[in-house]
Amino acid sequence: EREAARAARHEPGATSDGQRVEVAANINRAADAEGALDAGAEGVGLMRTEFLFLERDSVPTEDEQEQEYRAMAAAMEGRPLIIRTLDIGGDKEVPYLGLAREDNSFLGIRGIRLCFERPDLFLPQLRAVARVANDHPNVHLMFPMIATLEDFRRAQAMFDEVRRELDTPRIPLGVMIEVPSAALIADELAQEVDFFSVGTNDLTQYTLAMDRLHPQLARQTDAMHPAVLKLIKLTVDAAERHGKWVGVCGGAAGDDVGALVLAGLGVKELSVSTPQVATVKAALRRRSAEDLRRLAAEALAQPNAEAVRALVKG
Ligand code: PEP
Ligand code: MG
Repeated sequence: EREAARAARHEPGATSDGQRVEVAANINRAADAEGALDAGAEGVGLMRTEFLFLERDSVPTEDEQEQEYRAMAAAMEGRPLIIRTLDIGGDKEVPYLGLAREDNSFLGIRGIRLCFERPDLFLPQLRAVARVANDHPNVHLMFPMIATLEDFRRAQAMFDEVRRELDTPRIPLGVMIEVPSAALIADELAQEVDFFSVGTNDLTQYTLAMDRLHPQLARQTDAMHPAVLKLIKLTVDAAERHGKWVGVCGGAAGDDVGALVLAGLGVKELSVSTPQVATVKAALRRRSAEDLRRLAAEALAQPNAEAVRALVKG
């Protein structure tokens, strides 16, 4: 089975009856691009740019960032690349930034909130992305930890200002749906963004109030919980009303149950780790779109994640 999945890895992601579901890779460095493409990835659905900061002991300069984004954009050869702005804080600590300790770091100044506090970090990143996007129309930009409409508007305004300064074109702008409030206002957000990408790791953590790293809660912190699935459905429905698309870049996209349920909910892109690309494509190919829609509808009515997993595994 694994061999068959591998042999067919370069076919476009789709259900058995040909409904497209793009399967992209989560990679952080241009050096990993070749491996992802060879594994069958149809693009990069999440480039976690904080890894550029985490893997060294000083802030990467604007030029260094530009080089890395440029190398990634070029390596994709026209396939989509979604660059996510810095998501520091919570579980991702960068010691040399000298950030204040917080009692509840997952609920504090993390992600886009830190970027607003620290334009000295955010603006160089936005400039680097704008310059690369000027030469590579496949570049998309996405903001993490968006909780309110104002969060998006403020980030967008900063990017627009940078674009004016550099005279670079408009590019697709998206937000991560990883805070329940964002899913609940998806209708308003969908009028202003170009796309959504659901971060199921954080969305699950914040919906169930379970630390995503807590060892004792690990089994229960499952994105297949119907409460999480309902928020994803709200997001997809809102996006569809406004002609926008939804991807998923959290861990649930790469698990075989998760991929099927998410596709059934109407998700158009699954961004997964490189080794999962072929197996997710193979799982999608075994079911029809109608089959998946029915499965997702039933999943929403289950009492818990375990029941959803049992349902899908049949
Ligand atoms: C997520 O929260 O699901 C996500 C993809 O972002 P990260 O894991 O980097 O927080
Ligand atoms: Mg996240």
